[in-house]
Amino acid sequence: MAFNLTRRKFLQSASLAAVALPLSKVIASETGVTRSPLEPAGSFKDETVVGGVCEMCFWRCQLVGKKRNDRLVKLEGNPKSIDNGTSICARGNAGIQLLYDPDRLKFPLKNVGERGKPKWKKISWKEALDECGSKLKKVNETYGPQGICMFPHGSTAKYPMHFFERTVGTHNVSEASFFQCRGIRDTAYLATIGMAPGENVDMPNAKAILVLGGHFGENIHISHIKRYVKGLQNGAKFIVVDPRYSASAAKSDIWVKIKPGTDTAFLLAIMNYLVTTKKYDADFIDEYGDGFEEFTKAIQGWSLERAAKECDIPAAQIKEVAIMLAENAPNVSIHPGRHVSWYGNDFQRQRALACLTGLLGAYFVKGGWVPAKGPKVGKISWAKQEHEAAHNLNMNEDEEMRYPFTPPGTPTELIRDTALSGKPYPIKGCVIWGQNPIQTIPGQQKMKDVLKQMDFVMCVDVMPTDVTMWADILLPEVSYLERYDLIKTGTQWDFSEKQQQYIAPRMPLMAPMFERKDQVYITNEIAKRMGYEKDIPVKTIEEMVEKNLAVAGLSLAQVRAEGGIHIQAGKNPYQMPEDFEVLFFNEDIADVGFPGAPTYIPVKDSPAGFARLIYGRVPVHTFNRTQNNVWLNNAMPSNPVWLNDELATKMGLKDGDVVGFINQDGFKSRTTTTVKTTPGIRKDVVYMGHGYGTANPLMSVAVDAGVDDTSLMTKITLDPETGAHGMRNNFVKFIKDGNIIDIPTSA
Ligand code: SF4
Repeated sequence: MAFNLTRRKFLQSASLAAVALPLSKVIASETGVTRSPLEPAGSFKDETVVGGVCEMCFWRCQLVGKKRNDRLVKLEGNPKSIDNGTSICARGNAGIQLLYDPDRLKFPLKNVGERGKPKWKKISWKEALDECGSKLKKVNETYGPQGICMFPHGSTAKYPMHFFERTVGTHNVSEASFFQCRGIRDTAYLATIGMAPGENVDMPNAKAILVLGGHFGENIHISHIKRYVKGLQNGAKFIVVDPRYSASAAKSDIWVKIKPGTDTAFLLAIMNYLVTTKKYDADFIDEYGDGFEEFTKAIQGWSLERAAKECDIPAAQIKEVAIMLAENAPNVSIHPGRHVSWYGNDFQRQRALACLTGLLGAYFVKGGWVPAKGPKVGKISWAKQEHEAAHNLNMNEDEEMRYPFTPPGTPTELIRDTALSGKPYPIKGCVIWGQNPIQTIPGQQKMKDVLKQMDFVMCVDVMPTDVTMWADILLPEVSYLERYDLIKTGTQWDFSEKQQQYIAPRMPLMAPMFERKDQVYITNEIAKRMGYEKDIPVKTIEEMVEKNLAVAGLSLAQVRAEGGIHIQAGKNPYQMPEDFEVLFFNEDIADVGFPGAPTYIPVKDSPAGFARLIYGRVPVHTFNRTQNNVWLNNAMPSNPVWLNDELATKMGLKDGDVVGFINQDGFKSRTTTTVKTTPGIRKDVVYMGHGYGTANPLMSVAVDAGVDDTSLMTKITLDPETGAHGMRNNFVKFIKDGNIIDIPTSA
């Protein structure tokens, strides 16, 4: 690794030099190895290209690209945007470094070594596609469509996902964005108000905002953070519930330093207090509530004192929160959260948040939950075929759903268990598209064992990741700056009276370099080789976007002429739909054996000597996807572990000490990080940023930097209603200089 270390230092110093120069002079060469000004003075040809849509995270801010001599050199927010405006975040700016990252995948590669210890051979696209098509066809013919599983992520994975789901006919598709992130939120709100909530809270107009576990400022999504900041500027009271003094907690009026896993108890006590003191919105419930009586009976045991004991916080503080919310109702934003797969009891917590919003009458009102849906555009994709043989793992022998409130797709753990046991059938072909299930899903060794037993594994990605080491064929995809793609729609960021909507198709800001291809080309070529040529819905990604835009009466040329974004009059977001209701008690949930009213399910405490490992986002990275970006790596190259300062003293640790970890199952972290001591964290938890510690040496900037928190999640817990993973149920001790150090959490 001497080469990589040297190179990493070189890249970091090159990047620092680049930052010190005017960005307009930062030009990468064709190979991407050089990041320095190349053009002699006076030879510049500058232009601005419209139509970019960022994908350094999922939020999709609208961009313009600045080009010099036909090379993209800078990204800026599109001044026409009514969403992010001219603002983009550090990651959005650093998209230029993704574009020219020398480590990016450039050519199709065949693994002529072992899975997990690959030796790569450059091959032609024809050879690569022939192998993908023939191997997947063979799996399909031998085991049926259910013999193929897919782990997709991101907008480019939608087209291939629909091919494998609808046309080939496998149910075995699992998206990390659902089963390890927001799926629980969406299904819990669907079971309560019939709609997935997004992050659609009207914070600019809120008089009070409640956030559970969210850490705005560390998690940055531009229009969302604008809403949040505007709300605080406008004087909203701010309540943050978090075991850690996060960036949000630092701005709060009330910081609830809650014991991890007990959030539902906290919410039940607030709701019971509002009901028993008649501080809820009775008119709203009369008109829109359903099952309110059963609900109040179910939560009546939740006194402030009982919750205080369970949550390890003062009863007076729970009461203070309840009164603050009631006094500002209905203009309160109860934030639904996003990455909410925490403790394996999360469906109930999300139901409780949806019910609390109803108790306060905070749906479709200023400052409350309001939908932020954009205009309708088309969704051209693969047609659904009938597949009698395809088996849905989520159905048991009695044709009942194992996880009745699962997000779309199949719970990841059902796919993994089936692949490993071969029961009820073998799963032998694996397509991984933009997802990194090694660093996304608890049970890393299990994932590796699943991949080991496959007949064929293919990966498609922009960058190498930990999972691409397990591919037989690895295909290079174009980045978001080089392709057409799905259409971003939305509303004006601040829900102002002059409500407007927008349509922003992703358009390339420059042509692809090397041999990278887009999702439609790759999928269609594989489909042809698997015998599905007649089913192909579009020949090119551009054709797909044109057809989708046509549904809204638009074309790419028109939107381009309008500056990359079409803006039109919107609808009143506060208009209550006619059939809206809040199911405080949901009989469908009760009918399938789960609590019909939100219910607290306790989680296990840390074993002696351990603390619970929790994680979150950092402002300059999108989990592991941006780790190799040299600008972002410079900004935050590692993920220091937060440790309570009093405990640190007892443990003989101080800021900057280098430590590793051992978890409750004896698993030791492969790499190390540094200690950050702080009074701003409970004694029963430690915290770190998620997505660090990649093991792939092809990520020469990021390899071995920080600790991979997912690797420490060997204990697997599942949310019983949804089958989604609980990601905060593992416990660690520290290792320093080879010595294991107990954490005196009872101190
Ligand atoms: S929030 Fe940042 S990374 Fe995410 S889409 Fe916007 S600019 Fe890109």
